[in-house]
Amino acid sequence: MTRRRWIAEDWDETTATIAGVQAEHLARVLRVRPGMEADVVAGGHVFHAQVAAVELAPEKSEVRFTLLAEVPAEPALPVTLVLSVYKFDRMEWAIEKATELGVAAVAPVIAQRTGKHLAQAALKRADRWRRIAHEASQQARRSDSPLIHDPVALADRVRAPSTSTRIVLAEQERTTTLRHAIDAAIGEAGREMPALEIAIGPEGGWSPAEEALFDANGWRAVSLGPRIVRAETAAIAALAVVASCLE
Ligand code: SAH
Repeated sequence: MTRRRWIAEDWDETTATIAGVQAEHLARVLRVRPGMEADVVAGGHVFHAQVAAVELAPEKSEVRFTLLAEVPAEPALPVTLVLSVYKFDRMEWAIEKATELGVAAVAPVIAQRTGKHLAQAALKRADRWRRIAHEASQQARRSDSPLIHDPVALADRVRAPSTSTRIVLAEQERTTTLRHAIDAAIGEAGREMPALEIAIGPEGGWSPAEEALFDANGWRAVSLGPRIVRAETAAIAALAVVASCLE
C-alpha cells in the first residue's frame, strides 16, 4: 500500500513536525497515531517516516515524525504560470489543477481586464492560494509545494529580467503552437532542461496594449488551437503539453 504523504514545516536531520490546524486534521480526521508510517516531505526532500508523537492542545497541537530514510522524488515541471487574476473561484481551481500537474511556481498578475474589485482583493488572497497549492501538493504526492508569488501588475512581470523562455498564450495567434515554442526552447537549451514562463490572460483576454508589451519584451505568442478556451482550461492544457514535451 502506498504511504500517506504530508509536508512538514519544521524539520532537522532526524525529525520533522507538523503543527496547528494541519496537525489537528491529521490526529482527528486521519487518526494518525504513534508508530504509524508515512512519507514526510521536509525541505523539498521526501522521507519514509514514522509518527513519534501526537499532541493535541489548544494553539499548540503537533505531530512529530522520526525520519527513517530518504526516498527518491520527482522534480516539479520547470514552469512558472503567469496567471492573470480573474474570477477567484475559477482561478483557485486553476491553481489546484496546475499544482497537481507539477507546476513549479504561479505568478498572479493584474491585467488590464482584471476586474477592479478583484485586483484590489487579490493581495489578500495570496495566502489562501498558497494553502490551496499546499493541499493539492500533498494530494498529488509532490515533494514540494509550488511557489505562489504575491500578485503584481502585469507590466512588472513582463518587463522583469528572466533567463526562462517566455511564452504568452494568445488566441489571436494562428501559426505558432505551444508545442512548437517548447520544441524550440528544448533545441536552444542543449543538454539542459529549459525553464519556461507561460502567461495566461483573464476572462476578457489581453488588451492590444498588453499584446504589444509582451512583444516588445521578448515574449513569444503561441496558440493552443483553433478553439477559444477559458483561462483555467488554457492553464491545464498548456501544462499537459509541457509535460508531454519535457517528461
Ligand atoms: N478574449 C477571449 C477570451 C480569453 S480566454 C474572448 O473572446 O472573450 C482567456 C485566456 O486564455 C486568453 O487570454 C489566452 O491567454 C488563453 N487562451 C484561450 N484560448 C486560447 C487559444 N486557443 N490559444 C491560446 N491561448 C488561449
